[in-house]
Amino acid sequence: MTTSLNDPFWQVKNLDEMTEAEWELLCDGCGKCCLVKLEDEDTGEIYHTNVVCKLLDLEACECNNYQHRQYFVDDCLKLIPSNIGELTWLPNSCAYRVIARGEELPPWHHLVTGCREDVHNWGMSVRGWVSSESDVSDRHMQDRIIQWVD
Ligand code: SF4
Ligand code: SF4
Repeated sequence: MTTSLNDPFWQVKNLDEMTEAEWELLCDGCGKCCLVKLEDEDTGEIYHTNVVCKLLDLEACECNNYQHRQYFVDDCLKLIPSNIGELTWLPNSCAYRVIARGEELPPWHHLVTGCREDVHNWGMSVRGWVSSESDVSDRHMQDRIIQWVD
């Protein structure tokens, strides 16, 4: 394959070659990584719920305090090139997983369409079908488990 300087960065760079700005730009803004997950203590299996982290803006699907998120939510994992392969609870559609698999970004990704609303327009984000964990008690969390589809 020949590449030119004008090729989009996500087509010519591996995850660990991206600048911090490129890395952040790659995120599709789906908010699915912010779903509350439950772990079966016996099997280690992870279950997703239709409840999201208290810091997620339900409409924008963006973290309300991205810069200081780990101060407020200590189990919010920072995604880095070396952990993408291990985080199997991320959706298959997560742009970091897509690039790690060597695939093209999906047609609704904002880097493809030029519009950050398209992830929502295509129904690929959490907008419209989740509640905030601030509004769901721990004892009801099991009732919110969903079948993971992406
Ligand atoms: S799942 Fe991946 S692409 Fe979607 S918001 Fe989270 S980090 Fe970004
Ligand atoms: S702290 Fe922010 S980025 Fe982390 S899970 Fe919560 S909403 Fe998502």
